[in-house]
Order: sequence, then C-alpha cells, then structure tokens
Amino acid sequence: MVKVRIDRDECISCGACWSSCPDVFAENDDDGLTMVATDYQVDGEPGEGSIPDDLEDCANDGADSCPVECIHVG
Ligand code: SF4
Repeated sequence: MVKVRIDRDECISCGACWSSCPDVFAENDDDGLTMVATDYQVDGEPGEGSIPDDLEDCANDGADSCPVECIHVG
C-alpha cells in the first residue's frame, strides 16, 4: 500500500488531479475540493489515503498535474 496525502487547504479545485487519475482522486461534494476516493480514505479523512501499489503511478500523475503541488504520494 502507498500513502497519499492532500493538503486540502491549498487545493484550488482546478480538477486536474481527478481528471488525470479518477481512480484515486475525486471532487468532494461538500466543499468542491479534492479528496481521496472514498474506497481508499483512511479513517474517513478526505485528505488521507492508502492506495494499492498498482495505483501509485496513477496517483503520481495526479500529483504531477497539481498546479499548487498539494498532493503527496508515498
Ligand atoms: S490538482 Fe491540486 S489544486 Fe487541482 S483539484 Fe487537484 S488537488 Fe486541487
């Protein structure tokens, strides 16, 4: 498993991450900011995740797409 952390306070809701890696990232309906997909959230925290190893490249694509670099993988 690989850890994913999103500094949601910095997210500008541009949508780049959930467009490039929708398996790991999604828009949170409550605040419009990015969250870890519900299947992979840790303790129901939208900014904390644990993903299977085979999604690490996808998550990194999402992190690389983020203009404010608020996604951290691994
Ligand atoms: S790419 Fe970054 S700024 Fe854009 S929605 Fe995702 S986390 Fe937010």
